[in-house]
Amino acid sequence: MADELLKFVSIEQQMPSKREAESRLGDFREVYAGFDPKGAKQQASRCSQCGVPFCHIHCPLGNNIPDWLKLTAEGRLEDAYEMAVSTNNMPEICGRICPQDRLCEGNCVIEKDFDAVTIGSVEKYIADTAWDKGWVKPITPVTERDQSVGIIGAGPAGLAAAEQLRIAGYQVHIYDRHDRAGGLLVYGIPGFKLEKDVVGRRTGRLEQSGIHFHLDFEIGHEATLSEIRDKHDALLIATGVYRARSLKTPGVGLEGIREALDYLIAANKRDFGDTVPELENGNLDAAGKNVVVIGGGDTAMDCVRTAVRQGAKSVKCVYRRDRANMPGSAREVTNAEEEGVEFVWLSGPEAFLGDEKIDAVRAYQMRLGAPDGTGRQAPEPVPDSSYSMDCDLAILALGFEPENLPSLFGAPELRVTRWGTVTVDHDSMMTNLEGVFAAGDIVRGASLVVWAIRDGRDAAVSIQKFLEQQKAVAA
Ligand code: FAD
Ligand code: SF4
Ligand code: SF4
Repeated sequence: MADELLKFVSIEQQMPSKREAESRLGDFREVYAGFDPKGAKQQASRCSQCGVPFCHIHCPLGNNIPDWLKLTAEGRLEDAYEMAVSTNNMPEICGRICPQDRLCEGNCVIEKDFDAVTIGSVEKYIADTAWDKGWVKPITPVTERDQSVGIIGAGPAGLAAAEQLRIAGYQVHIYDRHDRAGGLLVYGIPGFKLEKDVVGRRTGRLEQSGIHFHLDFEIGHEATLSEIRDKHDALLIATGVYRARSLKTPGVGLEGIREALDYLIAANKRDFGDTVPELENGNLDAAGKNVVVIGGGDTAMDCVRTAVRQGAKSVKCVYRRDRANMPGSAREVTNAEEEGVEFVWLSGPEAFLGDEKIDAVRAYQMRLGAPDGTGRQAPEPVPDSSYSMDCDLAILALGFEPENLPSLFGAPELRVTRWGTVTVDHDSMMTNLEGVFAAGDIVRGASLVVWAIRDGRDAAVSIQKFLEQQKAVAA
């Protein structure tokens, strides 16, 4: 074993430095700094190089974590980067936004007695260094192939598949209804978790690699599924899930009650420097307002933290379960509290109040009752517990479901599940339509970036197999 390793007994866990809340509130820049070379080397050297590395088993991409930690501890960063990108198309992005406490780091064997190796931060350091040093180059396929693949959706699933297929030499065309590539990486996740240029340099590299981006191009509007299918030898549907779950609470139609993604997209566009009419006229701007966000997941955390940065008068997060049972990352809750967000646990909206425009939310207290079908304790209202809170902007962050794709795509023959996710053969990821594959949230339901990348990579393998068979039949 190299001298550089097994230092977890003598070196304590140290995360990269975090900006003070006061300075964070003034902008949308990332909260965490990166490691410096010494810090990265030291933290990587804490790894005990387990024979059975649970970190690797619990990383959805099966990253060779102990190997690139060892290379980092030895100062062999270019080799570490090559190893990191062999399994992950966006290591610097996963290093920033994976919920590591539930995945790799949460399963690090030294976590119990010594605090986990800071795997995500080291991964980010390796890949950021590679960009800084110019080691990240456009793809030059060994052979160019004449078959083409159309990909609908430029989120992490579509981008990962596109990269893998381009490496194999296929002609790749990505269609996206937004004006920028990246999916939720650019228009969902705010800059304080993931700065825009970190995504832009990845998508820019794909463009320089010969991948064709057709932006502002919505399948179902600019073309039907079958029209786009006719243009390519294979197709991948990677459209994500965007239909917001709604509430039936009285008053939900009042002005000033908005969906989370409308709010986040507007804020993210402004972060790009775009002029956004609904921010200009104040409708979607939290400045000076009492903001109430309903929900307890990552989307709710992104909304509350955006609202405090926009200069809201007060920001409350209303969630029906308690802190221990919320789906959002514990790290993000702590960050939000530091930034001045108030969490109202065990509460649910009873009514939205106001004439035309919302001016208050009436909520009731909840308690956790018997476990439901999923084993989680179901929240139930406490009788006679109503109270009100001032509110000028209410943001609903209750999760997302798939849109009705067969209808949107003009393709009633496309098979979907009863939840609206696209049905695929789980080995090949092919839908019921020959040569049409699907990956990411549109198959799994709302999930994580790292799973979307995994699905995109798996779909690329199946697409390549399919195209090779087609070629063999035609020969
Ligand atoms: P998406 O990223 O949704 O991309 C789908 C793309 O398809 C979009 O660009 C869309 O414009 C395009 N599209 C849709 N329909 C059409 C059409 N008809 N024609 C053309 N284009 C179309 N995950 C994490 O791991 N960490 C986090 O911190 C995190 N934070 C999140 C915060 C928010 C606010 C949200 C909403 C999600 C967050 N997630 C997070 C989840 C993560 O973003 C998703 O799981 C992931 O982006 C899914 O990738 P995807 O490629 O399947 O879909
Ligand atoms: Fe951990 Fe995510 Fe990186 Fe895997 S991709 S090692 S889960 S941070
Ligand atoms: Fe290293 Fe922790 Fe992975 Fe073991 S589980 S190989 S100590 S990072």
